[in-house]
Amino acid sequence: MPSSAFVLATRNPHKVREMRRLLAPAGIDVEPLPDDVVLPPEDGETFAENALGKARAAARGTSRVAIADDSGIEAEALGGAPGVRSARNAGPDAGDEENLAKLMREAPAGSPLRYVCALAWVDPESGQERVFHGDCRGRLASEPRGTGGFGYDPAFLVDEDGWKRTMAELSDPEKDAISHRGHAVRALVRSLRGGSDGRRARSDETN
Ligand code: IMP
Repeated sequence: MPSSAFVLATRNPHKVREMRRLLAPAGIDVEPLPDDVVLPPEDGETFAENALGKARAAARGTSRVAIADDSGIEAEALGGAPGVRSARNAGPDAGDEENLAKLMREAPAGSPLRYVCALAWVDPESGQERVFHGDCRGRLASEPRGTGGFGYDPAFLVDEDGWKRTMAELSDPEKDAISHRGHAVRALVRSLRGGSDGRRARSDETN
């Protein structure tokens, strides 16, 4: 492993918590983003573009290896929307509840969903950049259930759980084992160890 601590380019406390949990078994620590580092707007057309923009800004601003996740939810009934615009589904200042309510108004209960995560890793010293991808499939619940997780989790019935529970009803270890972010983080760890990527994840080397 080239480093045992990465700066995480996010201001989202849920993502900090999940990333810490996911990287801890590999002995990798997550350092918070210093207040003075400004992240670029997430206005790219792809998750990878946004994740790379954030990781580059954090690596440049701290001179440390940085990682950033950009993620969202795709509804098949909406042609893949809200996708890369998931965080502002109901408007630029919308919160999790409004974004979730809009998805539930627009997509039919039982219709297929997919969580997507792009995880960028940037080493400012070597100039190396990599992006790892993970996904997780589910269906839209008829009403929100559960108090765990964040964002769209209360409406996401998990395929791998046989649609019995929403992501917000799973324990943290259960979510981590199947989530889009979990798959992407494990692909990063395998890559740092010199291994290959697995079933629910792929990686791009950008230079
Ligand atoms: P961003 O990656 O900061 O642009 O925002 C991701 C958006 O997708 C937010 O609206 C999140 O609520 C949603 N999202 C990403 N990952 C998850 C997840 O694991 N559970 C629920 N919502 C998520």
